[in-house]
Amino acid sequence: MNNRVINFGAGPAMLPDSVLQRAAVEMLNWRGTGMSAMEIGHRSPLFQNFLAEVNAKFRKLLAIPINYKILFLPGGGKGQFAAVPMNLLPLGASADYLDTGVWSNLAIEEAQQYGKINIVASGAESHYYSVPERKTWKLNPQAAYFYYCPNETIAGVQIHSIPQVDVPLVADLTSCLGSSSLDMSRFGVIFAGAQKNLGQAGVTVVIVRDDLLNQAQAITPSILDYTQQVNNHSCVNTPPTYAIYIFDLMLDWLAEQGGVSAIEKSNRYKAKMLYAYIDESNFYRNLVDPTYRSIMNISLTLPTEALTQQFLATATNHGFVGLKGHKKIGGIRVSLYNPITESMVVKLVEVMRSFAKTG
Ligand SMILES: *Cc1c(COP(=O)(O)O)cnc(C)c1O
Repeated sequence: MNNRVINFGAGPAMLPDSVLQRAAVEMLNWRGTGMSAMEIGHRSPLFQNFLAEVNAKFRKLLAIPINYKILFLPGGGKGQFAAVPMNLLPLGASADYLDTGVWSNLAIEEAQQYGKINIVASGAESHYYSVPERKTWKLNPQAAYFYYCPNETIAGVQIHSIPQVDVPLVADLTSCLGSSSLDMSRFGVIFAGAQKNLGQAGVTVVIVRDDLLNQAQAITPSILDYTQQVNNHSCVNTPPTYAIYIFDLMLDWLAEQGGVSAIEKSNRYKAKMLYAYIDESNFYRNLVDPTYRSIMNISLTLPTEALTQQFLATATNHGFVGLKGHKKIGGIRVSLYNPITESMVVKLVEVMRSFAKTG
């Protein structure tokens, strides 16, 4: 364990040591099968029961109402950029999208392949460091749905309250699902790749309200078709079995931490600690409109590019990895997903503080 680093990367994210250790212990004999969870047949009663168990566990942890279906799908967050319009946008209809940064942009581009997209407002003018005010949004009352990305992972912009709209609300929660409590009843569909707060890459959680099923476009591939996946318990094809297994271990870990409300408290504390230091430092700067600062991803600039490079080298020497900013905006970025502990953030702030003094 001495070589273990602290990974502040934006994804795939760090997993708790205890989860990795449990996976290691169970590797050769999962639940008395004499096999690993990745070797077992997905149609076996054991795996089918396990899927139902994970489903129920997740529903309970996130307080997901009974009129929603939970799916574990392949294709990543990005696969859902296509799946959402294919499943929810009837031919000839239009959908509303809020443009808040890289991820909503990519979702818009993908959705435009499958229907008419109305961009209600764009944060481009603020270079995506802020979100246009609700009263400026040009909503279409006939829209099939309203789509947004509550946490834009790259700049670190988070919309902290759920927008009030009169059409089904769809959200890409890839970088925040499971990090704070969620009023699912406000949403029509949400989705999230697991590799940020809830496990490893390969499985994408999709939660769909029952009344939004049964309207997929005819061209929808069966693996992306919510209704077919609901009818087949996420097994239209071989589901990402091992990723679902790791997801299940993360749910147990989350419960051990006290559940979502406890992890939310800790996540808020971690972010508050880091922002407080940044604001007093006169060295590091976060350019995001304070109203929309993310508690998950915090982008920073240093006074010069040379100092940025020096800082990254210093960080590596302290066993911190994944701090390089996204290539689109440079600087550094700290991702504070669930497995990052408060004491890891304290350590990072110490290193940042001493670097600011000498650098
Ligand atoms: C990481 C990320 C994605 C992309 O997820 P993939 O699983 O790589 O397709 C989509 N949306 C957001 C908000 C993300 O942070």
